[in-house]
Amino acid sequence: MGRTPAKLDSVCLFCGSSDAADPRYLRAAAEFGQALARAGLRLVYGGGGVGLMGAAARAAHEVGGRVLGIIPDFLIGKERALETVEHVVVTSMHQRKQLFFEESDGFVIMPGGVGTLEEVIELLSWRRLDLHAMPVVFYNPDNFWGPLFALFQHTVDAKLTPPAFMDAWTVVDTVEDIVPALLAGPKAGASPMLTSVT
Ligand code: AMP
Repeated sequence: MGRTPAKLDSVCLFCGSSDAADPRYLRAAAEFGQALARAGLRLVYGGGGVGLMGAAARAAHEVGGRVLGIIPDFLIGKERALETVEHVVVTSMHQRKQLFFEESDGFVIMPGGVGTLEEVIELLSWRRLDLHAMPVVFYNPDNFWGPLFALFQHTVDAKLTPPAFMDAWTVVDTVEDIVPALLAGPKAGASPMLTSVT
């Protein structure tokens, strides 16, 4: 099994960078940032000050939480890097994702667009390859992620993905349930997967 941190200390958040998102989602991101900080956990994220990502980072920082932003140089202006928190500036999206992976012990997915999707798919495809066994928690208001789960199930039904893959994440409907789900760790049924026959 690949990267399997002994203890949960840093949590990476993948979520949308749009300020036009449903205000309930923006509020949920802020609540999550606070909850993480209050649990003594570090927030690792994309480094921007916009959308759900900015809301979560500002809220975590405001209540004294540790925050690490990882931002590619070409996005510093566009995603309005949040100057108040610690940053690492990288030169590519690939480097950014590699650092997310190395600096984090668990992942949270909140509503997001195509950038969030890309990050989630890489994280879960790496899970399918047993490159890590870190907890992955989807915050799923209004069944936001239902179509993605249905697509995953479609690939399982077609015998292109092992059934155990569907245990690679936890789904929660409320922000209060996110940190407990992270602390509970990954679902036991999900590992290892590389040997599973499809
Ligand atoms: P979005 O969900 O599209 O608002 O994007 C959320 C975050 O994902 C933003 O910080 C984007 O910069 C980032 N992002 C977009 N595309 C990629 C990618 N290919 N690799 C890594 N991060 C990405």
